[in-house]
This record gives sequence, structure tokens and C-alpha cells, in this order.
Amino acid sequence: MSIVICFNNKDPKPWQTKLQEKLKGVDIEIYPNIKDTSKVLFALCWKADKNILSQFPNLKVAQSVGASVTHIIKNQNLPENILVTRIVDEQLSEDMFEFILTSILSYMKNFPLHQLNKKDKLWHQKTYKTIKNTTICILGLGKIGTHVAKKLQNMGFKVKGWSKTAKKINNINCLYGNESLTNAITSTDILINILPLTNETENILNLKNLSKLNKNGYLINVGRGEHLVENDLLELINSKHLSGALLDVFRTEPLPNKHPFWNCKNISITPHVAALTNVNSAIDIIVKNYENSTQGKPLTNIVSVKKGY
Ligand code: NAP
Repeated sequence: MSIVICFNNKDPKPWQTKLQEKLKGVDIEIYPNIKDTSKVLFALCWKADKNILSQFPNLKVAQSVGASVTHIIKNQNLPENILVTRIVDEQLSEDMFEFILTSILSYMKNFPLHQLNKKDKLWHQKTYKTIKNTTICILGLGKIGTHVAKKLQNMGFKVKGWSKTAKKINNINCLYGNESLTNAITSTDILINILPLTNETENILNLKNLSKLNKNGYLINVGRGEHLVENDLLELINSKHLSGALLDVFRTEPLPNKHPFWNCKNISITPHVAALTNVNSAIDIIVKNYENSTQGKPLTNIVSVKKGY
């Protein structure tokens, strides 16, 4: 029995070393160097090459090393009997909250503008926004979105949230379903996208939906690049309907040199660092799932391949 690590854009070595420490006697191999493909039961994945998992005839589990499973569901043609699992980690949700809080306050207090002005030695005072007068809408009230919504509400923001199914969270205006998306976004100052990427959510940040934001509204996208229709965002910023955006995720990563986002002064860019998987806590989740899969016990954090998240 063995575990295969199939990564792109991530160093597999620390994962191999830590798994080896915890699972003595189990072969932990890094794709494509596999001794016997029939022995692979468990695949650890991050943006693996298309359809490579079909090389393992006895595979039982495809485990994502992040919160997202889009890279598995969209890229691997998996038989129904293979379970797809992901990382759910309280620290990941907390990291996301801290990142989003930084982005919100930086925007509200005009820090990007002051940084730009410093370059030209400009002394320009500008009015700033306050927490009690700011309404936030969070798209995606899952593990991460709910944590972020509750903490922002506790700080005094007015918070709305949107999900697929109904939710009840104290002091948060929870809306759900396609028919209430417009209501969720309308009268919002800051829209935060923390949705998973699925066929239903792709391109959801488009002209029609983003134009429902309040004038001078702001977008924070930490979901996936494919949620955003890039030209629609630029159009809304150029027409001054939106005051700007903080983007952490992109259709192509790294963001290409010639991309217009680099030169748009009202768009802040971070290199997909909002909430990074912590190897140490993730390893414990993965080891438990591996052991349970070999003992026929239930696994944690199984996703619905049909729903796509
Ligand atoms: P999750 O627990 O699976 O939650 C997903 C949420 O999205 C749920 O509330 C779900 O609604 C909602 N949703 C899905 N499809 C929808 C639809 N068609 N309409 C309305 N709501 C829909 O996921 P999570 O752990 O919170 O993570 C969310 C995403 O954050 C990940 O998939 C990933 O893309 C992103 N992320 C980014 C970073 C980063 O560093 N930038 C780090 C971690 C995660 P229901 O609750 O009703 O099912």
C-alpha cells in the first residue's frame, strides 16, 4: 500500500518527509516516480496534471491539500467509488479572517492611496470610512465564510451573507439561492467572495452583479480567479462605479506580466496568499484520513463531486 503525492506549483518534499515520519512502513512516493501503480491507495493532490489519477487502478481517495477541490474535480476523470476529500482547518479560517480584515481596513483608511502619494511626496488628506457605517456582503457562508462573517459582525460591521442553502447566523442577514443574489449584493459597500469554483459560481463576479454594489463599492476576491469577469471589473472601476478591488486569486497564476491589473492603481494584488494550508495541521488530517481509509472507517471532509464542493 502506498501514497502518491501529485503536486504542481507546490514543493512535495516537506509533505513527503512529514508523512514518512508519521506513517512508518508506508511508501510515500512523488509522482511520476512510482514503483508499482497498483499499490497506490491514496493520492495527495494539488493542481495535478490532467487525468493522471486514472493510472492508479486501486485508488480509493483523492485528498486535496487545500480547502478547494476544483483542481481534482475538474481535472481528474474519477470513477464514482473514489472519495474526494479536502482540508478543513480552523487556522485556515482564522488566517483568512486576518487577511480580509487587513484588506478591508487598508481600503477604508485609504492606505493604498497614501502609499502611492508618498512616491510623489504628495500630502493629500482624504475622508475615510468607519466600521459602523460599512455594510459587507460575503458570498459563500461555508467553513471559512461563516467564520469571517461572524468575526466581522462582532467588530461592528453590518454583515450579509449568501449561500446555496438556508442558514441562520446571529445578527447576520443570511440570504440563499440564485433568486436572492441581487438582494444580497444590493446596498453593499464591500463584497467579499469566498465561494468555491463550480459550474454555477464561475463568472459570478460580472457586470450585472457587481453593478449592484453601492457607488464607490469595493470587491475582495479570495475565491478563485474564474469567479471574476476581469473586463467587467475594469469597466466598473474605470466608470468610477467601483472604487477598486483587492484580488488574491487570478485566472492565470502567476498573474502574467502584461496583465492590465498590474497597471490599475485601484486594484491591489496579492499572490494567492490569503490563507495558506499549514503543513503541520494538514498532515494530521491527512494521516487520519489515510488510516481510516485502510481500516474501512469513515473519512473526514468528504466533498460532493456532484455539487463540486
Ligand atoms: P465550503 O465550506 O465548501 O463552503 C462553500 C460555501 O459556498 C457554502 O456556504 C456553499 O453554500 C456556498 N456555495 C457553493 N455554491 C454555491 C452557489 N451556487 N450559490 C450560493 N452559494 C454557494 O468552502 P470553504 O472551506 O469555506 O472555502 C471556500 C473557498 O475559499 C474554497 O473553495 C477556495 O476557493 C477559497 N479559498 C481561498 C484561499 C486563498 O488563499 N485565496 C484559501 C482557502 C480557500 P451551502 O453552505 O449552502 O452549501
